[in-house]
Amino acid sequence: MEREEINQHNLIDDFDKEHLWHPYTTMTNPLPAYKVKRADGCIIELENGQQLIDGMSSWWCAIHGYNHPVLNAAVTAQLSSMSHMMFGGLTHEPAIALGKILLDITPTSLNKIFYADSGSVAVEVALKMAIQYWVSQKKTNKTNFVTIRSGYHGDTWNAMSVCDPITGMHRIFDNALPKRYFASAPKIGFEQEWDANDIQPLADLICSHKDELAALILEPIVQGAGGMRFYHPEYLRQAAHLCKENQLLLIFDEIATGFGRTGKLFAWEHAGIVPDIMCIGKALTGGYMTLSAVITSDHVANTISNGTPGTFMHGPTFMANPLACAVAHASIKLLLATDWKAKVTLIEEQLRRELSAATALPQVEELRILGAIAVIEMKNSVDLSSIQQRFIEEGIWVRPFGKLIYIMPPFIINEGELHKLTQALLTVISTVQ
Ligand SMILES: *Cc1c(COP(=O)(O)O)cnc(C)c1O
Repeated sequence: MEREEINQHNLIDDFDKEHLWHPYTTMTNPLPAYKVKRADGCIIELENGQQLIDGMSSWWCAIHGYNHPVLNAAVTAQLSSMSHMMFGGLTHEPAIALGKILLDITPTSLNKIFYADSGSVAVEVALKMAIQYWVSQKKTNKTNFVTIRSGYHGDTWNAMSVCDPITGMHRIFDNALPKRYFASAPKIGFEQEWDANDIQPLADLICSHKDELAALILEPIVQGAGGMRFYHPEYLRQAAHLCKENQLLLIFDEIATGFGRTGKLFAWEHAGIVPDIMCIGKALTGGYMTLSAVITSDHVANTISNGTPGTFMHGPTFMANPLACAVAHASIKLLLATDWKAKVTLIEEQLRRELSAATALPQVEELRILGAIAVIEMKNSVDLSSIQQRFIEEGIWVRPFGKLIYIMPPFIINEGELHKLTQALLTVISTVQ
């Protein structure tokens, strides 16, 4: 398509630009926000009719693509019985059905589910659970957290406090946030040879501060928005061991990694390590609606429940929203009914084949691929506004940040579409300054 035809100005809405705040940009000089008319499968159609191949799955969510008939039907069917119902004192079939299927796919020792509204809120809930677990045992000093650098856990207050203080996007709030303990990020990559020194910084921190630490929170194997890094499974095994030895709960934030994205249904499976508390979100509803869940063990839930006050002190208004639960249930059923693992493997192989050429480009520092995720780390930060326009000119939707250009396409992407995505990606990358 000609450059003129996709002139940004045909796609940028004046009202939007003037009044609607978009993520991580200013109101006075906002990055362009292109207007989307519809989306179907892994195609995003812009207002001017141009079609883009989706490389982002709407930030990890839309694993089945857009406008999926099965998911549409689940939402539509639920609408006619009830779209929302308070969860205090009432319950409903969508919440129950989703709970049952979640227990089928999560570790057997995790049996108690707390539904929340978004990933960040799930992280808040998990952190609160960890503290209340210790308070219930009269260990009132265990109120702080340890984590690893390059992590990202969301945008709410305590979620922010455990994000990487520099790459986690919340640096300006530093002085206002509770102080957490940060170990350096794992250095040994997923496929590299394990080196026991990698765990030492975390071990040192945990040993010196165990009396004040409620939990270790981290994203298992894949660190997402804090750096798109993949680390060694042995790190998780060692971390779990440290937690056990020093009386810390272990919290896995599987909000980005869940539902097949890394090649396993959940990333903990790469290490065989089961946490005490696990947060899921993002692809939980197949990208249809916001919903998250915090899943914990009988032991944690019972300890909290047998303490004082016994009740867990959290209760979102939209807890277990029936529409969201119904579509989440349908999305998980759909995932399990397809050979998602074979599909993710195919995507991974194609990404490896077609993107390996990136490593020869002078602009590229490193290429990392795991499951249906490919990360091209550039030597320099990219200019988001111009590179985004270039991607659109090439007919793909990719949204980089900093030095990181990455794709995690819907699992339903076919070979031809993925080929177009990788080739357009290489074309654009080879021309950036
Ligand atoms: C996106 C994300 C969150 C936050 O989820 P929201 O739904 O945006 O609040 C938390 N943790 C991880 C690992 C994420 O990728």
